[in-house]
Amino acid sequence: MKEINDSKKIIVAIDGFSSSGKSTMARELAARVGYIYVDSGAMYRAVTLYAMRHGMISPDREVATGKLVAALPSIKISFAPAGADGVQHTLLNGEDVESLIRDMKVSENVSPVSVIPEVRERLVALQQEFGTHKGIVMDGRDIGTTVFPDAELKVFVCASPEERARRRLKELNEKGGNVSYEEVYANVVERDRIDTSREVSPLRKAEDAVELDNGTMTREEQMEWLLDRFNRATANL
Ligand code: C5P
Repeated sequence: MKEINDSKKIIVAIDGFSSSGKSTMARELAARVGYIYVDSGAMYRAVTLYAMRHGMISPDREVATGKLVAALPSIKISFAPAGADGVQHTLLNGEDVESLIRDMKVSENVSPVSVIPEVRERLVALQQEFGTHKGIVMDGRDIGTTVFPDAELKVFVCASPEERARRRLKELNEKGGNVSYEEVYANVVERDRIDTSREVSPLRKAEDAVELDNGTMTREEQMEWLLDRFNRATANL
């Protein structure tokens, strides 16, 4: 891949609802154009896993906010480059937690952790550091609104909750999970509710984002659509 100088690179922000397929799209785009890919949801998941392991989340999802905020300086999140499986692995204090953070238990606890302003402040600062030299594709909930409000390309992905629950269930089943459609659907709807109604950086479409409803599109069609947008955004640099 030839080196492109910073001024020729852009920031791509891909936001949307849980299980809308945005991570897959973002990862593929980054690989196609030689950009860095950052999954911001994985960072919130890693903090959640830390909190769970340290007994900071009760069975009814009450988070011991004070304790978690005090522990934030000792939570180090980083990414290991994609290995043979083509997937970038999330590291929590140096430990590879990539598969642990995808667990349904983490999915159930992640939204209450993500509403904590200090958690967001810390992770947003880290995310902005990743984008210092541009050439990055980041997916999440507030990338186009808060993390990179000046991103040159912003995409907002949506699909119905039923469609998203079906996709998530398939993914979990492929990994050998044992959950029902009803459980997954309830989690998708609950995360939508918390993510869109929280006070700090709620999930919403940035005014200058282009919307993609991918409910009926194949993966190839989505990539074609995204590459076209990317080429247009980079054409005049
Ligand atoms: O993208 P993913 O579904 O893995 O994200 C997990 C959770 O992390 C979301 O449901 C949301 O609560 C939180 N999140 C967030 N802001 C982001 C990315 C994820 O609040 N930028």
